[in-house]
Parts: sequence; structure tokens; C-alpha cells
Amino acid sequence: MLNDVEKCLISREQIAEKVALLGQQISEDYRGKDLIVVGILKGAVVFLSDLIREISIPLYIDFMAVSSYGSSTESSGVVRILNDLDMSIEGMHVLIVEDIVDTGLTLKYLVENLKNRKAASVKVCTLLEKPARRKVKVDLDYNGFVIPDEFAVGYGLDYNNKYRSLPGIYVLKKEIYSS
Ligand code: 5GP
Repeated sequence: MLNDVEKCLISREQIAEKVALLGQQISEDYRGKDLIVVGILKGAVVFLSDLIREISIPLYIDFMAVSSYGSSTESSGVVRILNDLDMSIEGMHVLIVEDIVDTGLTLKYLVENLKNRKAASVKVCTLLEKPARRKVKVDLDYNGFVIPDEFAVGYGLDYNNKYRSLPGIYVLKKEIYSS
């Protein structure tokens, strides 16, 4: 897999350091509150599993799978829920855990959708954001890294369902995307 990589954007060590900081901050902010961490499948799975082990307060975990219509590298803004939460979030403090915010369209839809379910609060924790491509404003309450306008893979993020298990964040060689 590393043969397909052009460059490393963020190393596994940098990620581990940042995830520990985010976990500490979240633990302080949500102390004494009913926290539910909602992971967005599949990209956020690796981030979520590291993050929850850095959070020192009790929490619930649930997942949603969504698909945004569009090509493999471009989101369209039309979001469909493929797999919904198992738990009711009424009265709970919801923290959405996302892999990356690009146009912001997926997250905007998710925040509004979860707020409508009478959650006490809905906040967002994303590992990566690409401000250059933002189309809608979404508040990112916890944000790991800002990255340039490049298609990132690794640490849960895929290209055509591959590369999720790479330990850091990488950009692939041009010929991989065009083949
Ligand atoms: P948005 O709705 O913010 O445009 O896109 C969010 C989703 O698009 C992310 O959850 C992710 O699945 C996908 N996405 C956006 N940019 C990238 C990227 O650079 N790499 C990968 N692997 N997925 C991305």
C-alpha cells in the first residue's frame, strides 16, 4: 500500500499526540454530562476507537452510516442515512465524530438531523478539515488538523475502499486516482 503513496501529510505520532489532547479537552468539557459519541461510518472508525480511549469520563457509543451522492472524490450535498442510530439521543449530549470535513454538506445535514431528535446538545469533533473547499458553514467544536486541498487517505479514510488501515494520513500518487 505504501508504494501507492506520494507523501505523508500527518504521521501516526502527530495523530496520537493530537488525539490525546482532544480526548482531554472533551473529558473536561463533558464532565458530569450524559455524553454519546456518534461515529460516522466507515471513515471515522479508527479515529473514534483511539479517541474514546483518551476520554476519561463515562460515555455511550453509537454509529451512523451515511452516503452522500456524488463521485468517489466529490460530495453532492444530498445525504442518505444508510444505517441509523440504535439509541435514542433525547436529552443526551451528542458528539459527532467525523473523519474529514470537506464541503461541510454531510456534517451540516447530520447536525440538523440529530438536533431535531431533541438532543441536549450536538457538537462536532473532526480529525481533519479542508477549509479551501467549504461550501456551507459548520461549527467544528473540536478539530484535529487543517489540511490543504488534497484527497487524503489512511487512518480510516479510503480511496475506493482501500488504504483505511494506513497508520498516518497520506496523499496517493496521481496515477492511482486517474487509473
Ligand atoms: P463533505 O460533505 O464535507 O464534502 O464530505 C465529507 C465526506 O467526504 C467525508 O466524511 C469523507 O467520507 C469524504 N471526503 C471528503 N474529503 C475527503 C478526502 O480528502 N479523503 C477521503 N478519503 N474522503 C474524503
